[in-house]
Amino acid sequence: EAPGTEQELTDGFHLVIDALKLNGINTIYNVPGIPITDLGRMAQAAGIRVISFRHEQNAGYAAGIAGFLTKKPGVCLTVSAPGFLNGLTALAHATTNCYPMILISGSSEREIVDLQQGDYEEMDQLAIAKPLCKAAYRVLHAQDIGIGLARAIRAAVSGRPGGVYLDLPAKLFGQVMNADAGEKSLVKVIDAAPAQIPSPASVKRALDVLKGAKRPLIILGKGAAYAQADEEIKTFVEKSGVPFLPMSMAKGLLPDTHPQCAGAARSTVLKESDVVMLIGARLNWLLSHGKGKTWGEAPKKFIQVDIEPREMDSNVEIVAPVVGDIGSVVSAFNQAMGAGWTAPPAEWTKAVSTKREENVAKMAPKLMNNKSPMDYHGALGVLKNVIKEHPDAILVNEGANTLDLARGVIDMYKPRKRLDVGTWGVMGIGMGQAIAAALETGNPVLAVEGDSAFGFSGMEVETICRYNLPICVVIFNNDGIYRGTDVNSANSDPATTVFVKGARYDKMMEAFGGVGVNASSPDELKRAVNEAMKSGKPTLINAVIDPAAGSESGRIGNLNPQSVLQKK
Ligand code: ADP
Ligand code: MG
Repeated sequence: EAPGTEQELTDGFHLVIDALKLNGINTIYNVPGIPITDLGRMAQAAGIRVISFRHEQNAGYAAGIAGFLTKKPGVCLTVSAPGFLNGLTALAHATTNCYPMILISGSSEREIVDLQQGDYEEMDQLAIAKPLCKAAYRVLHAQDIGIGLARAIRAAVSGRPGGVYLDLPAKLFGQVMNADAGEKSLVKVIDAAPAQIPSPASVKRALDVLKGAKRPLIILGKGAAYAQADEEIKTFVEKSGVPFLPMSMAKGLLPDTHPQCAGAARSTVLKESDVVMLIGARLNWLLSHGKGKTWGEAPKKFIQVDIEPREMDSNVEIVAPVVGDIGSVVSAFNQAMGAGWTAPPAEWTKAVSTKREENVAKMAPKLMNNKSPMDYHGALGVLKNVIKEHPDAILVNEGANTLDLARGVIDMYKPRKRLDVGTWGVMGIGMGQAIAAALETGNPVLAVEGDSAFGFSGMEVETICRYNLPICVVIFNNDGIYRGTDVNSANSDPATTVFVKGARYDKMMEAFGGVGVNASSPDELKRAVNEAMKSGKPTLINAVIDPAAGSESGRIGNLNPQSVLQKK
């Protein structure tokens, strides 16, 4: 080539970044290291928001919940083998919860890995990721980066959303190609999650079954929250007049204070309903698989709305399956119902609201106690009011008792404002989800955490301070797991479920320049949380909870296997 005519070049680094930007992916949740440190730097220089975490699992949980909140795949970027494995837990979690997410990990040289010659961080990452996610791809040539990312995006968001693994070997980043050809190789994904229109026959069948019900119930799941069809869902529920029960992350689709909300009458409606319409909720363990004691004696018919055909009949017979995306299905319901829909028998709706009012009244005085150290209800009464006054705030919630009790006590008013442990009931989502929630929405975040749950992601308080995020973490500190009172009778080691007594988690936040507060009464807690909501400063409140408060495994103690030999 003559001097001055040398062609412009691009490389793997730039193609990955250009492909992400072309597809509107403007945030990456990452932990830097070989071989992706420069990718993160260059992505940041190119205008992508690159958020660096202290551990890949937390970056991964951030990416997953970003996917849930935005309907775009959340991207997590990690180093090879150990970093990849740390991120993989979150990828599996995203897949289980139907959150769209892409885990991009750098990997070692194929030639060496495949001959098992002991490369730096050698691992066949693609093979390991495959069973734990919805799809897994590897890109070996720079000219395939565009198509590789397009496949990953489409796989993550279309149909039932889930996690996708994208393997990028170290060598790929340095590969050079002609810049024009590079640009042409990129793919902008058109209509990544096409509408899935339900068949008219399935819509009619479902409405006929609902119409014939004497004691109907609608259960809204997090798929309904994900769908972002908030207005259609509200119209449908109100038009139907049917009591609705929100699963935990569907709380706020309609306010928990809505007259049709049966949240506070859960056991009654599950037992006594005769027709149950599931909208974006699975009949998994969280709903006792649709059978057994929880569901009572009366024969029950299930209608199910889901994008995934194979979800139908997974646990019990579904008499009216409606396969489609929730926005399309619920719009079709609204149209087909027309103006002449008759509300369910007043006897039923009255019974549900009476039960609900009874239960709310029973709870009310517990929430107003001013005990010190606090019990769960005294502390939660305060936080219930905080969310009432700040309905746009996002509530992140994990723990055992802290989760189960907060879910019941704290009313939600708007969709996608409650982010919790999801389908696995996993501990560790806290700080990752809080960070992504703050970044993706710009809203204040209140993270209500058991002391044990917090420990899984606690180091990310540094990340919260570094990015100066409006996150208020409240730690329900009862000195341990379930309770802080267990005693080891065999030797001087602490019991397996207890932590350092009187620990001061608030000091962790202070170490990084945030606000730390120790609160030992509901009044102190109230003052500190209100101040945090007002200032928007990173805040951690150590809420001192009576170590004797709390029960084994919260509400799911029945899942613990029991030894027949050792009586408790
Ligand atoms: P929950 O735990 O709240 O009951 P699940 O995660 O068990 O919720 O169920 C969510 C369901 O929603 C999944 O079966 C998933 O296939 C479905 N889903 C997710 N997004 C959509 C959508 N846009 N349209 C229809 N169904 C969806
Ligand atoms: Mg605890």
